[in-house]
Amino acid sequence: MIFRAKHYQTEQMVDVCCDDGKIVSVEKAGNFVPDHQAAYIAPAFFDLQINGAMGVAFSDINLDESGIRKVLSVCKLHGIEAICPTIITNAHAVLIHGFNTLRKACESDPVIARAMPCFHLEGPYISNEDGPRGAHQKQHVRNPIYDEFKEYQGASGNRIKLLTLAPELPGAIDFIRKMTSEGVVVAIGHTAASPMIIREAIAAGARLSTHLGNGSHAMWPRHENYFWEQLGCDSLSASIITDGHHLPEALVKTIVRVKPLEKQIITCDASGLAGLPPGKYSMWDQEIEILSNGKVVVPGTPFLAGSGSFTDDCVAHLISLGVVSRSQAIEMATNAPRRLLQLPEIKIEAGSMANLILFDSNKDLSFRINRVIIEGVTLNQS
Ligand SMILES: [Zn+2]
Repeated sequence: MIFRAKHYQTEQMVDVCCDDGKIVSVEKAGNFVPDHQAAYIAPAFFDLQINGAMGVAFSDINLDESGIRKVLSVCKLHGIEAICPTIITNAHAVLIHGFNTLRKACESDPVIARAMPCFHLEGPYISNEDGPRGAHQKQHVRNPIYDEFKEYQGASGNRIKLLTLAPELPGAIDFIRKMTSEGVVVAIGHTAASPMIIREAIAAGARLSTHLGNGSHAMWPRHENYFWEQLGCDSLSASIITDGHHLPEALVKTIVRVKPLEKQIITCDASGLAGLPPGKYSMWDQEIEILSNGKVVVPGTPFLAGSGSFTDDCVAHLISLGVVSRSQAIEMATNAPRRLLQLPEIKIEAGSMANLILFDSNKDLSFRINRVIIEGVTLNQS
């Protein structure tokens, strides 16, 4: 297959030839007859925090392989070639079941394994305070227990490469050191820690802030708080949910202007309801509503109850704010998270995986996926 479009970084019109799942050549446009043509070509997205979609949640005692396939299929249609399936705070049996089911799916099908190169455990070692805890269930929040984590890691087949925790919990700093030495990337999130403990966590090896700005108190001390401490730390990467609902525009602009560019990561944090039409649903034993604008709320309140967006929506929204370049926004949802997790990067060059998106961008601040190419094969026609 041959795709003709402008390279998302260089703006040069190129012909990208793909064969057997890989890019075999990238040449100045003109020598071939392309199979598809669009305004731009870029790597497909990687999202390090996807909780499910289409009514399937990874943190569900009924999770099965067909549910996993359903999530991966819808993600691919949104240009997301791979994800960290994310299991959040829940009962021990649910976490074990979730990681076992994810592992078995990877073992049964190499296509699934490539689409889920590693897993994310968000919780259960997080703050139990209202606000920092977010939508995680209070009764399942607990302090870090190494042996328990090892059971999850065993169930996953050693695929948990990202762990979000609150560093103020008893034993958490030593736990971070241990996780880091075992090759697990530790993220700070759902925390009520003092700035001093945030600094200790970073010194112990923490490398990411999970959805910075969300999962926090409504009110903070104005100078000394966990948000400024993480925002101001240049060595700490930050994931941000740029869906237009989770953070106000001014805060998104502030984070992306302050954090070093290579440390910024977009996540959609899609919940199990992502991809479903507007309406009322039941999740976490409560009623949840998807509004017509895509916002997922507790009915009748302004409180968010998860994310209904996918990574492409988040990239499009960030581009529309005009605060970072188009190529930078794409980098934040492709190779920046891959680098953090030491996964191979996708480059528009020979030898790279042919997991690509073609997109249109009529005006500088617009972004619309035209086609998705996974392992060299075009998925959707527009
Ligand atoms: Zn979270």
